Amino acid sequence: MLQLSQNIAAVPPSATMAMNNKSKEMKAAGIDVISLAVGEPDFNTPAHITKAAIDALNRGETHYAPSRGIPELTKAIAEKLNKENKIPVEQNQILCTSGAKDAIRITMTACLNPGDEVIILDPAWVSYDPCVQIARGKPVHYHLNDNFQVDEGLLELITDKTKMIIVNSPSNPTGSVLARSSLRILADACIDHNLYCMSDEIYEKLVYGKEHVSIGSLPDMSERTVTINGFSKAYAMTGWRLGYAAAPKEIMSYMDKVMQHSVGNVTSFAQWGGVAALTGDQSCVEDMRKQFEARKKFVIGRLASMGLKTAPAEGAFYAFINCGGDDGAVATKWLEEGHVAATPGYAFGAPGWIRISYAASMEQLAEALDRIERLL
Ligand code: PMP
Ligand code: GLU
Repeated sequence: MLQLSQNIAAVPPSATMAMNNKSKEMKAAGIDVISLAVGEPDFNTPAHITKAAIDALNRGETHYAPSRGIPELTKAIAEKLNKENKIPVEQNQILCTSGAKDAIRITMTACLNPGDEVIILDPAWVSYDPCVQIARGKPVHYHLNDNFQVDEGLLELITDKTKMIIVNSPSNPTGSVLARSSLRILADACIDHNLYCMSDEIYEKLVYGKEHVSIGSLPDMSERTVTINGFSKAYAMTGWRLGYAAAPKEIMSYMDKVMQHSVGNVTSFAQWGGVAALTGDQSCVEDMRKQFEARKKFVIGRLASMGLKTAPAEGAFYAFINCGGDDGAVATKWLEEGHVAATPGYAFGAPGWIRISYAASMEQLAEALDRIERLL
């Protein structure tokens, strides 16, 4: 047999998807499993956004689109980044992608040479390592401190091979938000050592009493930062596969080449949904945020009453629980005996922790927590 790529052989499958698939199999076998394993809003996409895509289809917007995205969408994204995020970018620095995930893959492909080191702040989302590895880079892990913030220890990991630092705030899986002091350390590290930064801000709209600061808005950072965002979480648009990147012009021209020779362009009528999302009434975003906040209070309160410690739940929609032991075994027990699917922390570089998503209905959350309590 011919040997397949050794590089891909070394990449693990997605743990969140594996857990989700397992719970789906159990459901298909008639078992009443509650899946809190995958982070996906349970809301449907707001109607005005869906309507814009349907209208686009009916108008015949069914053809190839420009590789960077339709001008209406790249314009709306550039305006949003300048106005809300204070990131100085022009429209020609935007690339629309098939979800934020694809924006991350394209960033890595455009920026990395074999062996380039990329610093990842653990606990970290499951796909950063694989995206770096697929682009033949080398992930290097820094563990956030006990408050899930960055300290000067990060600097010890920088070598002459370091190319980039990945930042993700609000964080998946911890739900914590990086303070300005952490962002300052990260920005100084990038500036002093001439590094790129990739800032994944997909959860920016889901913050609870905290401010979201884009690292690309800090002085001297926009010229070295690729900002990643998308529509999945803020507008409940996971199935649309619509995201974007904003990058310095020289990186963007490489990213555009990767896009032109792979996906080509993002689904044209989905992009019109994106235009409606960004330029339409934003109250849907706040409505969903408020519901997530109410669920967060409920979930964190119940977990505390069971004596379980959690990371500061300041953003996103995850409760990150210190299970104080073998997280793989705990997740298996919760699934097989309690019929609650959760994701073990080792998948995020955080053994001893377990992640549940509270992007589920209050009824489901209450039932899942009852089941967890009974197991404890
Ligand atoms: N970044 C983070 C931190 C995420 O949790 C997700 C969700 N899968 C993504 C990126 C990708 O989002 P999407 O591709 O749906 O835009
Ligand atoms: N971001 C979600 C999660 O972490 C979706 C699954 C995925 O893309 O990995 O559960």
